[in-house]
Amino acid sequence: MSRFSSGLDLAAHGPSLPVLDSLGAIRFRALGDRMLLTNDAGDHALVSQAEFHGLLEGRPPADPARRDALARQGFMAGTRAPEDLAAAMARRKGFLASGPYLHVLVTTLRCNQGCVYCHASRIGMATPGHDMSLETADQAVAVALQSPSPTLTFEFQGGEPLANWPVVRRVVERALELGRGLGKDIRFSLVSNLSLMDDEKMAFLVDHGVQVCTSLDGPQDLHDANRPFAGGSSHAETVRWMERIDRAYQDRGLDPTLYHVEALLTVTRASLGRAGDIVEEYVRRGLQAIFVRPLNPFGFATLTWGKIGYGTGEFLAFHRAVLDDLVERNRRGTQILERLATIFLSKILSGTDPNYLDIRSPCGAGIGQIAYDHDGSVFCCDEGRMVNQMGDPMFRMGHLARDGYGDLVESEVVRSLCVASCLEALPGCSDCAYLPWCGSCPVYNYATQGNIFGRMPENEKCKLHMGVLDDLIGRLASADETDGAILRRWAIPRDRPFFSHEG
Ligand code: SF4
Ligand code: SF4
Repeated sequence: MSRFSSGLDLAAHGPSLPVLDSLGAIRFRALGDRMLLTNDAGDHALVSQAEFHGLLEGRPPADPARRDALARQGFMAGTRAPEDLAAAMARRKGFLASGPYLHVLVTTLRCNQGCVYCHASRIGMATPGHDMSLETADQAVAVALQSPSPTLTFEFQGGEPLANWPVVRRVVERALELGRGLGKDIRFSLVSNLSLMDDEKMAFLVDHGVQVCTSLDGPQDLHDANRPFAGGSSHAETVRWMERIDRAYQDRGLDPTLYHVEALLTVTRASLGRAGDIVEEYVRRGLQAIFVRPLNPFGFATLTWGKIGYGTGEFLAFHRAVLDDLVERNRRGTQILERLATIFLSKILSGTDPNYLDIRSPCGAGIGQIAYDHDGSVFCCDEGRMVNQMGDPMFRMGHLARDGYGDLVESEVVRSLCVASCLEALPGCSDCAYLPWCGSCPVYNYATQGNIFGRMPENEKCKLHMGVLDDLIGRLASADETDGAILRRWAIPRDRPFFSHEG
């Protein structure tokens, strides 16, 4: 770990090299008139500029409590045992020991909607030859069950996954059958626009504890503009089935605050300036979380960017407006959180990593997730599969008909992506104060900068992570007791055992 970062002019700190030995191994970043200190263990502290320069010059803070706090975190040399720092780091990197837990199955590329940003590059419902076969589905389940991960999540994606219902059903039944006795916690998640739902499918999904996740881009006018649907209002269809599925959970006596259809928000230019309307829509639908996701440079979004895209600064302003609104609502008693903020808050506050695959080091490509395309091609992640759909097979790990689990996870693609997403070895990241909590996506880097190794000074995802982290550190530092309790509560995960199948 480097001792110093962020462009501090060390020459200005004079002849006193020995004083540098009084400082623990840190990274730092100037935030307003304060300095953020972090270390590999993921600890952080905000100190004044005077305190920081005092530390550099071998003068720890005079206040004993302040001095002890910095010493406990290891921000002063020799005050925290290396084994203790190593144990904290191992806790944060615990995900490295488990293997791929997320298995994304693209049951079909067909879809009945025409979303303006479709990252999956869907094809029309009548186009044949784009559905996964039952045989391919069986092969995908067999590979997934070989992962050493103690938890496995099978996630159904598309296109619209319900357009190939027999495969969804087969995978659930087969994974439960073959997973019996393996001692794994098996989970299922369906990502659907819900418009092809019917009573029979809903009963199967609820009976088998399949978590249902949909898209909700805001109130009806915004959602329908983003997600055109020849069958009428996509918003009306989505909301109708959200309510019905939520009722089915309640009929089984499940806690509605834990068990309901989850929703994702994709931010387009039309969303900017409408943070309040969008949050209001989520609250109206009884949702407890909103995941504010930026557009990504995949699929149709690359074609429509000029009309629906925006700059990272605009996204960050929108994200801040959503957080302001949510914190205010929480103060008034409505419990609702934002997921991107929650991922970072749990890293900052809990001493562990929530294992969100896109924001960790190394990222989850091939070692945290595997994506199985409809034709049996296997990719490092869903984004890698999206790039393939755009005509570039760069992130293909192999094929189910030819390759076994070992061949896939030991492929050169996976090795390269591990190296490219280790922030600890990346120029720009290795001495960034946000390294302990951040992550780089090689597929995004490749799509935007032509190289799996991102050039961080001009990387928009880096700018986005840095902006969100600046905002969150600022919020934590200035929060009163109530706001601090809200942000800390967001960082506490809530398990949903009904969706868990112990094998
Ligand atoms: S984003 Fe999903 S629902 Fe929308 S067109 Fe693409 S595959 Fe269909
Ligand atoms: S991606 Fe950017 S914010 Fe994240 S660690 Fe690297 S330089 Fe820092």
